[in-house]
Amino acid sequence: MNRFSRPLDETNAGLTSRPKCLAYSPALMRLTALPALSDNYIWLLADAAGDALVVDPGEAGPVRKALARDGLRLRAILLTHHHPDHVAGTAELAAETDAVVYAPHDDRIAAANVRVGDGDRVRIAQPAFEFDVLGVPGHTRSHVAYHGHGVLFCGDTLFSVGCGRLFEGTPQQMLESLERLAALPGDTRVCCGHEYTAANCAFALELDSANTALQARSAQAAELRRQGRSTLPSTLAEERACNPFLRIDSPALTAALEGNDRVARFADLRRRKDGFKAPAA
Ligand code: ZN
Ligand code: FE
Repeated sequence: MNRFSRPLDETNAGLTSRPKCLAYSPALMRLTALPALSDNYIWLLADAAGDALVVDPGEAGPVRKALARDGLRLRAILLTHHHPDHVAGTAELAAETDAVVYAPHDDRIAAANVRVGDGDRVRIAQPAFEFDVLGVPGHTRSHVAYHGHGVLFCGDTLFSVGCGRLFEGTPQQMLESLERLAALPGDTRVCCGHEYTAANCAFALELDSANTALQARSAQAAELRRQGRSTLPSTLAEERACNPFLRIDSPALTAALEGNDRVARFADLRRRKDGFKAPAA
């Protein structure tokens, strides 16, 4: 058995004594978005003892640097989908650190110790974090999201004020996936894979210009980017108020989009976004 086929039990040790529903708290865990490649984020979640996990390391360098800077030990790597900008740093980091790699059932991801799918729960002993796995097909057919401690790692399914392109799924699948995510508690922190918020706001405003929450989010995103800061995480409550892909039943979007039913409206919205060129920032 090689190190990429460890039994699930090995990662399940020592869980009985920890609190059942530990909410995200800066005192207990630190959540950081590490910029990577051109506009990716690698999410780093560390506990107070210095044990850490990362999500979607598209390259190893930023993770290595953060671990060294903060004196952290990498214990787990969570992958949402097979695209290189989310997985390419995995094998290197796993080899350097002995981190356990969690990944969806998909042969296109080679470096995985534990395969996960919809309904599974990832239990990590150190840091003592648990995540529910949600199957969210649409961007890719095997895409998963991880939800726990008030944090949602959603890869390229839900973006702030947008959603991923439909490379391997139907509009109906993507709509169902987004609505499953949107049904999580409103204060859930949305940790997605890319810094696309400002361009997404420009597109959304074309269809939903009277939405004051969207106007505010757009101004805030522009200011954060001007300062070189991340616009993430957002919250699901913000996304429900601003994200056009979660608002296809609103009067503004219903009026702006073509299609007799919600799936057709969603497909029209996604098509328009595919053809949208954001004005230069
Ligand atoms: Zn992707
Ligand atoms: Fe991506």
